[in-house]
Amino acid sequence: MIPVRGVEGQKIAVLGLGRSGLAAARAIAAGGGHPLCWDDGASGRGRAEEEGFELRDVSRPGGLDGVSLLVTSPGIPHLYPAPHKAIAAALDAGVPVDNDIGLFFRSLAIGDWDRFDTIPKVIAVTGSNGKSTTSALIAHLLEAAGRSVQLAGNIGRGVLDIDPPEDGGVVVIELSSYQTDLARSLTPDVAVFTNLSPDHLDRHGGYGGYFAAKRRLFSEGGPDRAVVGVDEPEGRFLAGQLTEGAADDRVIRVSSGRKLSGPGWNVFARKGFLAEYRKGRQAASIDLRGVRGLPGAHNHQNACAAYAVLRSFGIAPRVIEAGLASYPGLPHRSQHVGEKGGVAFVNDSKATNVDSAVQALQAFQNIRWICGGLEKDGGLAALHPYLGNVAKAYVIGREAEHFALGLGEGVDCEICGTMEVAVARAVAEAQPGETVLLAPAAASFDQYNSFETRGEDFMQRVRAILEG
Ligand code: ADP
Repeated sequence: MIPVRGVEGQKIAVLGLGRSGLAAARAIAAGGGHPLCWDDGASGRGRAEEEGFELRDVSRPGGLDGVSLLVTSPGIPHLYPAPHKAIAAALDAGVPVDNDIGLFFRSLAIGDWDRFDTIPKVIAVTGSNGKSTTSALIAHLLEAAGRSVQLAGNIGRGVLDIDPPEDGGVVVIELSSYQTDLARSLTPDVAVFTNLSPDHLDRHGGYGGYFAAKRRLFSEGGPDRAVVGVDEPEGRFLAGQLTEGAADDRVIRVSSGRKLSGPGWNVFARKGFLAEYRKGRQAASIDLRGVRGLPGAHNHQNACAAYAVLRSFGIAPRVIEAGLASYPGLPHRSQHVGEKGGVAFVNDSKATNVDSAVQALQAFQNIRWICGGLEKDGGLAALHPYLGNVAKAYVIGREAEHFALGLGEGVDCEICGTMEVAVARAVAEAQPGETVLLAPAAASFDQYNSFETRGEDFMQRVRAILEG
């Protein structure tokens, strides 16, 4: 645990008692503060009471008396579409609002660090897509290079739950826009911006607010090094703002699909090859096509960002290349399950919407595609241009017929209804060189309680076939 500093003897309100809220309450108590906990749900309050924390509804009149700070959870709106009533009360009363990320950054460094040979470093990753993959990949590559690493934030442990970093230790944290929008301290040593596309716009008052929330990671403390995806105008704008001149290599620009030129530090992937250029000269090239844990152009973008972070640590390209080859992939994201008779099996159950299914459909060829489930708003037309790689679709879900209609005329479709039937049919028809891919382009809730359970179901059936 990281005890929170600067809270001795103070009353700190903690709003939202999920994983990060409870961890914050514990860390505040460990730092000598007095947490006053609240959650609108009875189960959250129950968990806090079980741990002996005092409950207080700070939105009640007088609830904020004597409170010096309100710490809130990412799921609770702090400004748009409207602040939660407890946060509105704090803003009215002039009580500052922070989150566990802000507390983490202000509490991480301790006196012991004076005795360390290598000061611990924090790498923070934000962006619209690929945050988890990039964070996990950075952690994997650093471990493969012999560093002691902890993964925290949205992935791994809560930031205040981690162990105090040891000599030379590295903490990799994944941050959402909700978290970067609110944290009062944001001082990573290296900050990564993967890419930008519309998401959570209601919570940020529109696209500009969403971008502004993410960019705080680069402006509040100013990282020593920034790795910025420049495939969208916002990324190019951010990179431009952070550099003093074209040759300033505190910013490493990253692209998937475009050759980046210029005298600065650039890493890009094209046609499956990663290239690094510095001061106008090529420094390295890596063939990503055979890296099983990172299929497709979207994952090559993640690979470039992680590679850039490792290079900023001074780690050699060949060491990074070896680490890439052994990256196992995250569960349910283009996860390679196995191969039999020349047919590969891939679980991308995390493709819960059309956009992420499009990424998966571009990452493979000759696909036996298991798709369908609870359809999201917006229809399936955006999939149509990418159905060329699909040999046949096997449709699951309660509304499988409706889903199949949405796929249009351009693809051969079979209504299967259940995973059991879909896997059996796909296996029966698959030819050597083909890939059986679960990438539903839909939520799972019509048949499962989460995309994870859906992915597990797929993998269990596939493993039975692989072992049979
Ligand atoms: P996040 O943590 O940002 O949600 P993940 O790494 O968990 O991202 O990936 C979620 C899904 O988003 C993946 O299944 C994949 O379809 C898609 N994805 C991953 N990386 C990228 C990327 N760089 N660009 C676009 N889409 C991506």
